[in-house]
Amino acid sequence: MAQVIADRRDVEFVLHEQFEAGRLSRHKRYSEFNRKVMDMILSEARTLAVKEILPTLKTGDQTGCRYENGKVRVPPEFKRAWNLLIKGGWFAPCQDPEWGGQGIPHSLNVMAQNYLIGANLSLLMVAGLNNGAGQIVERFGSGRQKALYLEKLYTGQWGGTMVLTESECGSNLGDLSTSAVKNEDGTYSLTGNKIFISGGDQDMTDNIVHLVLARVAGAPPGSRGISLFIAPKFHVNEDGSLGEQNDIICTGIEEKMGLHGSPTCSMALGSRGKCIGTLLGEENKGLPMMFVMMNHARLMVGSQGLACASSAYLHAVNYARERIQGPLPSGRDKTSVAIINHPDVRRMLLTMKSHIEGMRSLLCYIADLEDQKIVSDDEAEKEKWQNLIDILTPVGKGYVTDRAVDVCNMAIQVFGGYGYTAEFPVEQIFRDVRITAIYEGTNGIQAMDLLDRKLLMKNNRLFFDLVDEIKKTITKAGQRDLLSPLAGMVETALDKLVQTARKMDQSLKGEAVLQAYGFASLFLEATGDVIMAWMLLWRAAVAEKKIETGVEGKEADFYDGQLKSADFFMRTHLPVTMGKMSSIMDLCSAAITISDTSFGGK
Ligand SMILES: Cc1cc2nc3c(=O)[nH]c(=O)nc-3n(C[C@H](O)[C@H](O)[C@H](O)COP(=O)(O)OP(=O)(O)OC[C@H]3O[C@@H](n4cnc5c(N)ncnc54)[C@H](O)[C@@H]3O)c2cc1C
Repeated sequence: MAQVIADRRDVEFVLHEQFEAGRLSRHKRYSEFNRKVMDMILSEARTLAVKEILPTLKTGDQTGCRYENGKVRVPPEFKRAWNLLIKGGWFAPCQDPEWGGQGIPHSLNVMAQNYLIGANLSLLMVAGLNNGAGQIVERFGSGRQKALYLEKLYTGQWGGTMVLTESECGSNLGDLSTSAVKNEDGTYSLTGNKIFISGGDQDMTDNIVHLVLARVAGAPPGSRGISLFIAPKFHVNEDGSLGEQNDIICTGIEEKMGLHGSPTCSMALGSRGKCIGTLLGEENKGLPMMFVMMNHARLMVGSQGLACASSAYLHAVNYARERIQGPLPSGRDKTSVAIINHPDVRRMLLTMKSHIEGMRSLLCYIADLEDQKIVSDDEAEKEKWQNLIDILTPVGKGYVTDRAVDVCNMAIQVFGGYGYTAEFPVEQIFRDVRITAIYEGTNGIQAMDLLDRKLLMKNNRLFFDLVDEIKKTITKAGQRDLLSPLAGMVETALDKLVQTARKMDQSLKGEAVLQAYGFASLFLEATGDVIMAWMLLWRAAVAEKKIETGVEGKEADFYDGQLKSADFFMRTHLPVTMGKMSSIMDLCSAAITISDTSFGGK
């Protein structure tokens, strides 16, 4: 049967041939994760995804979530899949087994998530925040908070949420107005209204652990005065049993474009004056703590984008093999052919394929850095891996989800009119994936994170650590006759990226600050393109060596497909990236200097 979530051969290629994840088993922490065990885990994830989760995709979209009598009901068929996710330990697979995690490598997990999320984003989104919420509790919680909540979060027995957004404060959390007043017993009374809270209420778990951002009375204004609290849906007694319901209630759910199986809730905190929370960490240190969760969540959203894109692509390529339409434009043969033969459809398919492959490699690379950081004893090395993770996070979220939306859009185009109908899943996948460019910090915010934080941090050290890593691949590939021209193209693009980054750096420190911000998104896009080129060159270098050993049949086709992706991307997309970088260097000021009225419409 044709694959419809993620290409199995490609997933294995990335994990085992590009990143050689099996080498992790040399370290005590991951000693049991040899290739055989990794393949078994991947296979379990794929079977769960295909057999149990995928069947909930369409029905979940059609049934959607309901808000009835003050309670949220998710599509009933999600419950079985949720329980199977619990059974498989998929809520916090990389976390410490002592607290209910599975301790598996991040690189293995990111590949497994490709299957799980790709089977139904809505369902995995409801489940998705447990891991990040748990990480905050594990890192900053008191012994009591950990004992009460952590295992329940990591095992999926209870839900976890991230309660940040308010109607007047989305991107700029510094403006939030939910308040916290300290009680005599050390707890806090929270009052306020939150919106857009994923899984703010649901009927799959007995309890929900809400992580709430609020401002303690008298705290400094802005982001320096924000604290983080745990406010469970039901209070928890010392013996772990559930007590009274807390005064944090869902007042309604959003009607949305997609993601219908994931409830997006409005929450009232303390409408009866009885929303009690406990402080996590110290007062006024809430945002930095929340960023621990947000960075994890941002990469998870990147994985969501990739998973949707890879599924949309496989649907498109399968359809293109079957749909017969018109003869080829060349030659005299007037026989209609499958549309996969038409050059423009092939262009779309190879555009999708090359981007998905680059994105899969990038997300696995970031996860592998996390694994390397964990197993390394060398502090300087750990710092370097963290630098790379930091600079790549906005790319892994912002660039990947923007391209994922493009890929899903293109999948609809491959289907023609049928792609616009509910008969085929690509229209749902497109509706579902659209949110990934918005939540966890819009992609505009990701672009600013890259430009004015990550690029400038440690005197540009993060950026140049990245450049050094890219150069290593260029040097290796440049020594191979077949790949040397492609390596040259990546090198030229990288040199121009360095010049562009220098220009942005100067502009941020000089007069052209606003212009620089006006080009932040294009800078993210150009950086992401160069990283795609790097990943594809790396893949091509691995594939070329395999071809040399004399592979045949489907394997030969697979490896040749790697060379084609790299060739296509470098010679079709990278020249456009060069143009994007020229436009950034030009720093046109029109978008800044145009008056508000000149935008028209008034
Ligand atoms: C389905 C769904 C699920 C969600 N889940 C959660 C959740 O679980 N928890 C939670 O707390 N929130 C959640 N959100 C909220 C989400 O994170 C916010 O919608 C998002 O951060 C953007 O905030 P906003 O909608 O207020 O848009 P705004 O902040 O008003 O932004 C509007 C536009 O202006 C741009 N913009 C804003 N400020 C700047 C700036 N300084 N510089 C440049 N551009 C800027 C943005 O990029 C965007 O294009 C969810 C939202 C949705 C739709």
